[in-house]
Amino acid sequence: MRSDIIPLYSHYDTIIVGARCAGASTAMLLSRAGLRVLAVDRQSYGSDTLSTHALMRPAVMQLSRWGLLQPLIQSGAPVIRSTTFHYGEQEVTVPIRLEPNIPGLIAPHRAVLDRMLVDAARAAGATVLHDTPVRDLIFDRHGSVRGIVLRDASGQTREVSADLVIGADGLGSFVARKVEARTLVQGRCSVAHVFGYASAPALSGYHWYFGRNLSGGMIPTNDGLACIVASMPTERFDMEFRFDLSAAQLALASLAPGLGSLVFGDGGERLKAFRGAPGRLRQAYGPGWILVGDAGFFRDPLTSHGISDALRDAEGAATAILSFRRSALQEFQEVRDSLALPLLETTDAISAFDWSLEELPERHKRFSEAMKSEVAVLSARAEFDQEVPPTLQGPRTSRVEAI
Ligand SMILES: Cc1cc2nc3c(=O)[nH]c(=O)nc-3n(C[C@H](O)[C@H](O)[C@H](O)COP(=O)(O)OP(=O)(O)OC[C@H]3O[C@@H](n4cnc5c(N)ncnc54)[C@H](O)[C@@H]3O)c2cc1C
Repeated sequence: MRSDIIPLYSHYDTIIVGARCAGASTAMLLSRAGLRVLAVDRQSYGSDTLSTHALMRPAVMQLSRWGLLQPLIQSGAPVIRSTTFHYGEQEVTVPIRLEPNIPGLIAPHRAVLDRMLVDAARAAGATVLHDTPVRDLIFDRHGSVRGIVLRDASGQTREVSADLVIGADGLGSFVARKVEARTLVQGRCSVAHVFGYASAPALSGYHWYFGRNLSGGMIPTNDGLACIVASMPTERFDMEFRFDLSAAQLALASLAPGLGSLVFGDGGERLKAFRGAPGRLRQAYGPGWILVGDAGFFRDPLTSHGISDALRDAEGAATAILSFRRSALQEFQEVRDSLALPLLETTDAISAFDWSLEELPERHKRFSEAMKSEVAVLSARAEFDQEVPPTLQGPRTSRVEAI
């Protein structure tokens, strides 16, 4: 929706910068509870982004609870019932544990997933603007964030105030920079990812392949396509692939026969590359601001967990805001960190590429244990949903100010 043709209030309970996994989810949850929410993204509605999209169990649990899993499956994202790890010649297939509301995992294309989250936020009453960059934050004289400066689609600059501004603006977060959010923990590994799409209608399950300084993945997604990804340490990417992404295809072919030939397949799309960045856990909140998604916590994509983190922290932040207690934001950060730190540590252990194929399964097991702790927290949230009817209909006044 264009920002020059929509009437905006001059003040919102919450303004969210960024409207993808983290931002659109937060907007949806806060709007469902009755807050007046504006979410703003500089990119277009329904656009793609630089990311593969294998969802792990925590993300699927959240989407199921929010009523979005079935629509995503109906969008054509195939249901995934197994994950196969290929350690050289050895294959280990792990069936996905099914539950009444979880028929399997899914890997919807980002354009599909992000659009559906935005639609859900709008349906809940949020105003979501695209093609609208946020140029600055507004601070009061005590240093609290009090609003944003945006550039609307006609090129005009406008100021909009809010009780709270949420940075859901990704890894290079502008909000985090402006509020000078402290980095609490820095990861140690950086992995590059090169990916593209190929026709693979018969592919079932996630497949992950591992070799020396290289890993590969096949992720079944919408339209009978598979997302094919090659991952390698950033130093190797810089030396061998940066100026010739198609070399990644040859490398994949050496890892697993048939895998390399799929990349260009008949999808015909350009390969995309992410050069890598070390993980980073930032301070989650401060006066008048909160960070969610990659803006607050980034870990290497090799363990396919970023969207799970984004949805989990969107809900954690929304719950804290809606509790109208000062201490709730500290509790949000503590829960986030207790889950994020083991995920960061075990992801780095895999992303280090310093393992042998015999050692790697144990590192995957440790990552899986970290994810189980997260699943336990999310399951407790699901039980809470059942106990408490949806009475989070807070007044549409600025109660957010209380925190
Ligand atoms: C190569 C790669 C592969 C990945 N694969 C997976 C995977 O398989 N599974 C998985 O779970 N995760 C994966 N991830 C991680 C996942 O992409 C992220 O964790 C997730 O996108 C985080 O969502 P987010 O909403 O926090 O940020 P983003 O998706 O980055 O969205 C941030 C939004 O903020 C907007 N924005 C930024 N600045 C401004 C501004 N000033 N004004 C207005 N808008 C602004 C941007 O336009 C953007 O749309 C991968 C990441 C990469 C890089």
